[in-house]
Formats: sequence, structure tokens, C-alpha cells
Amino acid sequence: MEELNIKTFLSYVERVDRGLLSLVGKFRMEEREGKIFLFTEDRKLKENIESFLLTKFGNGFRDKVVVLLEGEESDGSPGVRKKAAEGLNVKYSFNNFVVGEGNRLAYEVALEVANSPGSLYNPLFIYGGVGLGKTHLLQAIGNFCVEKGYHVVYKSANDFSEEMVEAIKTGSVKEFRNRYRSIDLLLLDDIQFLSGKTRTQVEFFNIFNHMFLKEKQIVLASDRHPKELKDVSDRLVSRFEGGLVVEICLDELTKLEIIKRKLCELKIEVQDRIVESLMEQTSNNVRDIEGTIRGLKLRGVEHLKRKKVSVNDLEKIKLYTAVHFGIEPEELTGSKRSKKVNRARHIAFYLCRKLTDASLIEIARAFNRNDHSTVIYGIRKIEEERRKDRKLNYIISFLEKHIGDRL
Ligand code: ADP
Ligand code: MG
Repeated sequence: MEELNIKTFLSYVERVDRGLLSLVGKFRMEEREGKIFLFTEDRKLKENIESFLLTKFGNGFRDKVVVLLEGEESDGSPGVRKKAAEGLNVKYSFNNFVVGEGNRLAYEVALEVANSPGSLYNPLFIYGGVGLGKTHLLQAIGNFCVEKGYHVVYKSANDFSEEMVEAIKTGSVKEFRNRYRSIDLLLLDDIQFLSGKTRTQVEFFNIFNHMFLKEKQIVLASDRHPKELKDVSDRLVSRFEGGLVVEICLDELTKLEIIKRKLCELKIEVQDRIVESLMEQTSNNVRDIEGTIRGLKLRGVEHLKRKKVSVNDLEKIKLYTAVHFGIEPEELTGSKRSKKVNRARHIAFYLCRKLTDASLIEIARAFNRNDHSTVIYGIRKIEEERRKDRKLNYIISFLEKHIGDRL
């Protein structure tokens, strides 16, 4: 349809159905924000035209035509309320999100924001690797707020950009802006895709400021920290950093819990052996984990084939780690608990896990440990410290590369 105003709307309706035209004639009409508003005092008439529009144009008519009872403003209308949940999928909630060390902070602030949008951290910026639950948390916030009657829009930065390009093409940039100005909560996902899209960034910057000043909540997700975003304007980056920036990670223990939960959800018996294999064979990506578990459901547990682990590799990791820290390899497998040896041992656990396909049990065995929970504990400690301690982070990156090249 060409640009929508009352005249073009009426001639369009006439072309589609003359009966509909005479029905439309019974309404008071207004054109606003690129939409046609139809008002009547007759509830029955309102229902009639809605079902008529629905059969003729499908659900999409609600983007163009709003039917209201006289005196009822748009936020009360069913049409707008439908739109209030744009982009949301009810399968994501806070309840079905497994919380642990690596994602606790992100989860907790997301919940706080959902409880009082606009007033705490604005924007909330969640970043982290693929498949770690960023979209899940954004959607959970959205679903939570829709229930409370907020007008919510969830969108990926890519879709946002496409929508804007379309608006430019059809000369409806003003309507595009207005649409976002009436939102209470904007969830914009995969912000890294704003990279290099200068015009989109300008539009988003304006929408951002408008919402921010009106204390409307903005939640953003990205695969990297705002500072690491490429080709995104400095002023946007500084807005992103102006609220709260939290990282989301997946540690071994949480991964274990997620595996157990997902097995339960799919009614697969939770045997230690299966859990252990899944721990080994899946990367730190919950989407992969879900995929592998669905595969189990379809093809049975035989599908979980063991990969061969080279004992040699574990020995090499022990040797190189020991040399790096100036201790004997035997000290790593021994029971000595000095700070230095302990730290080196934990790093060696971590490297074995990262660089080989060895299971936790196999690593425990290689280090003369009876219990693989010692290994989990050590790995977790390094995961944690690595995030906080830049020097340690550097040492481990170096060892990963140095040893990885020699396996
Ligand atoms: P991201 O947006 O970070 O790439 P998603 O939020 O899309 O990741 O998560 C990928 C899949 O893993 C989704 O199906 C999501 O429901 C699930 N998932 C991620 N983290 C968790 C968690 N902590 N508990 C339960 N499911 C999770
Ligand atoms: Mg995502």
C-alpha cells in the first residue's frame, strides 16, 4: 500500500471489498503516526469490523489500523496490547533459567530490572559468549514485564536496522521513531550487529536518549563488552557503559546443573555415566548442550561415543606446567599443598580440561586424585580468578598457546 492516510486507506478498502467500505463509513476516522484509527461507540460494530479486517488482511492489519471505542485511548485497546509483546517467546522465563556462579550476577540484575524497570540500571548491558543465556534473560525480563502490563519490544539489532532501512525506503522514518517512543521496555539483542551501521546507530542513539530521559528501561545484549565493539560510535559506547555492564559465563558446576535439568525436562534418566559424557563432549554453549541432549532423546545414549584421550597429552601438560612454575611434575601428582604447588596443580587441571577431551575422572586419575570434585573445584577457581586477575589471565593464555602447540 502507498503511504497510509485516510484517502489511500479508503480507496484501498474499496478495491478490496465494497461491503467493507460501507462498514468503515460508520466509523469516525483519524490518521496518526502512519496508522488509521477507527472510532465507534458501538462495541458490536467494533467487533464486526475487527473480524472483517482480520479475514481480509490477516493479523498484520493491527500494524496499520487501530479500532477503538470512543473515549478509549490506544493503550487500552486490544490491538496495542497484542503489540505490547512484540518479539517475545513465552518459553523463556526466570523460572527455567539455571542459576550458578558464572551467570548469577546477570540473572540477579535482570530480575531486579524486571521488578522495577527504568529505575535501577539503565541501560542494563549483558555480554558474553554464544549460547550462554543472554537472549534467554532478555526474553525473561520481557515476559515478566508484559504480565505487568508494560509495553515491551524485543528485537535483534539486525531486525531493528532492517526495519529502519525499510522506514527510510518508504519515507516513514517519523512513524518508525514514534513507534519506539511509546515503548516502556526495549530489549535489543546482539548489539554487536550495530557495527558499521552508522545511520542505524544515529537513530538508535536518539531513541535511546528519548527513552532514557523518560526513565524507560533499555536492556542490551552483546557477544562482547561495549569497549570491544567495533565501528560503533563513541557516544553510543559511552551510553552503553553508563548503566550497568555485566558479563555472563558458564562454569563447570552450572554446566553440570544445566545438563541434569535438561535431561530431566526431556525425561531421560539421569545416569552419572551419561552426565559425565555430556560434560566432556559438549562445549561451553548451552545451545549445543540442548542439541546434544535432544539427539540423545532421538537416537538413544549409544550416540554418545567416547573420544579417545591421549594419556601422552595429559603427561605433556603436567610437564610443561611444572616447568613453567619451576616445580617437579611429581609434585603436581603428589599431596603437597603449598600455595605455589596448589596453584600450579589447579592450572594444570584447567589446561587438561581445555586442551584435551579428557573427562574429569580421567584428569583426576592422571593426578592421583580419587575424587573428581577436586578437579571441578580447581578448574572453577581458575575460571573465577582468571576473570579478575589480568596477570593470571595472561599466564594462562600463554600456557594454552605454548602447550597447545606442542600436543
Ligand atoms: P545467547 O543469547 O547467549 O547466545 P541463548 O539465551 O539463546 O544464548 O541460550 C541458548 C539456549 O540455551 C536457549 O535455549 C536457552 O534457553 C538455553 N539456556 C542458556 N542458559 C541457560 C540456563 N542458565 N538455564 C537454562 N537454559 C539456558
Ligand atoms: Mg542470543
